Amino acid sequence: MTLDQKITEVRKVLDTVQADYAPAAFANSFGAEDMVLMDLIARYYPDIGIFTLDTGRLPEETYSLMKKVADRYGIRVPVYFPDPAAVEAYVAQNGPNGFYDSVELRKSCCHIRKVEPLKRALSGKRAWITGLRRDQAPTRKDLAQSEFDAGNGLQKFSPLLDWSLSDVWDYLKRFDVPYNALHDKGYASIGCAPCTRAITPGEDIRAGRWWWEDPEIKECGLHPDKRRASASSVFVEKKPVVEDLALSYQER
Ligand code: SF4
Repeated sequence: MTLDQKITEVRKVLDTVQADYAPAAFANSFGAEDMVLMDLIARYYPDIGIFTLDTGRLPEETYSLMKKVADRYGIRVPVYFPDPAAVEAYVAQNGPNGFYDSVELRKSCCHIRKVEPLKRALSGKRAWITGLRRDQAPTRKDLAQSEFDAGNGLQKFSPLLDWSLSDVWDYLKRFDVPYNALHDKGYASIGCAPCTRAITPGEDIRAGRWWWEDPEIKECGLHPDKRRASASSVFVEKKPVVEDLALSYQER
């Protein structure tokens, strides 16, 4: 499929969401994939809401991109923050960087700073839209483009599910869409500053997220790993690898 054909397919999904699932909202994390959807939704889908989650630990480059988006599209994306009392209790008990100490503490930090604010943002919505791609991680291999999100009680759409990383960057280049400056510094996937690092050529594209953890379990709770709910065995899968990420950056 050409990029134009892929864009047409994404438009069909967004047409359906806007027509049949109002009120719907797009969760924009300001990563590369989400900037594709931001561009399409800002230009063509005024009835689809947009929001973002500010965990309180985002890198400065993400805030700079929020400003660029406001300038480019005339949209100041609504921001949902974590409950201050929950953050204060977590930090009092575990320290500011307690998430490095165990998977449980990392997940509880993600729950406070991401999962609970997401639930508030999605309250009253009939559908939400994400920029997930199937080849981003083993945990995303079994996702469907449209599926019921039981945890949040609404339909979840991932229109870019079968896009490649090259498709994403071809789109951003073609339409001159602003993107997070960290991508030019080797960051393939961007989240909170203390939990995200640059990757080197040949590394898994999610290797820079929670790099101290087993890649088979790395999710923040926003997008639960469906495999865990349906299987009891330990998964051993071939991880997706970017052959030469540095080259793909130069080509942007
Ligand atoms: S990514 Fe790190 S800092 Fe951000 S919410 Fe999760 S554990 Fe906390």
